[in-house]
Amino acid sequence: MPKFRILFFSFLAFSSILTGCGNPQPKEPIVVPDRPTVADQPTAIPSFSGSRAFADLERQVSFGSRNPGSAGHAQCLNYLASELRSLADTVWTQDFVSIGYGHETLRLTNIVASFRPEEKGRILLCAHWDTRPRADNDPTSANQSKPIPGANDGASGVAVLLEIARLMHSTPPRVGVDLVLFDGEDYGYEGDTPRYLLGSRYFAANTKFQQSPRFAILLDMVGDANLEILKEQHSVRYAGDIVNIIWSTAKQLGYYQFVDAAGESITDDHLPLNEAGIKTVDLIDFDYPDHTNRYWHTLDDVPAHCSSESLEAVGAVLTHLLYTQKP
Ligand SMILES: [Zn+2]
Repeated sequence: MPKFRILFFSFLAFSSILTGCGNPQPKEPIVVPDRPTVADQPTAIPSFSGSRAFADLERQVSFGSRNPGSAGHAQCLNYLASELRSLADTVWTQDFVSIGYGHETLRLTNIVASFRPEEKGRILLCAHWDTRPRADNDPTSANQSKPIPGANDGASGVAVLLEIARLMHSTPPRVGVDLVLFDGEDYGYEGDTPRYLLGSRYFAANTKFQQSPRFAILLDMVGDANLEILKEQHSVRYAGDIVNIIWSTAKQLGYYQFVDAAGESITDDHLPLNEAGIKTVDLIDFDYPDHTNRYWHTLDDVPAHCSSESLEAVGAVLTHLLYTQKP
């Protein structure tokens, strides 16, 4: 797959010079037809760096597990908020409390970073930044009560969004973009759905949009070194047209990691958004690294099982999509 992909659009020169028929006197005025406005002009599509995104993945993992209440959770929140404050036009945090198992008080924070907040046409990109408090699928039973490193399940989606934030800082897209990092996605015991998706539920229920996004894209588990993203079925049902645009963009750019096949229906942060009327696609590779899923929710969810190429495939497709959106 291509290491770098930079697409430049060039405009046809619209200006023409009208001159008199062989008579230099008097000079005819130079006629310049209406120039396209800035908003009409396609923007050069910046190059998404998988290696920079991978460094963001490793940085998050370096804080340790980021499950609510942990030291890593607090440190990573500071890091993400300060990174985004240096890149976005506006950043705000949405703090809320949820009661967990054994009456545990969970102090949770969604982070929202906006680019071009004045633009009416907006796209929302999101990922969960928390990690699971227990490695309940780990083959070693002594590990099952330990929190996971969450390199793929947590850090990967955020890493792609941080690199996109960097690109948007230096090359603003023509549309407005909101990045939302959800907390509390992965808290619940397996099967206890009400205790999952805490941040996205809170966000969907409590956020007042001045402009609803045209659509949203959720990234979850997009760092697997053996990346194969199938079409998640809730996404197809709620946002089939956006799924088609994403897959045709991936095909056009040659990213084979987007497989043109039906995947499973997965309960994830896109459901509260879709139920609130925001058309949202979930990009997720639920087979980590393959159908055995042996790294998922285990202590083996580490950077060594992820790759910069996978992050780059997802990031490049999203970047292309963002920068070809019309205002
Ligand atoms: Zn998970």
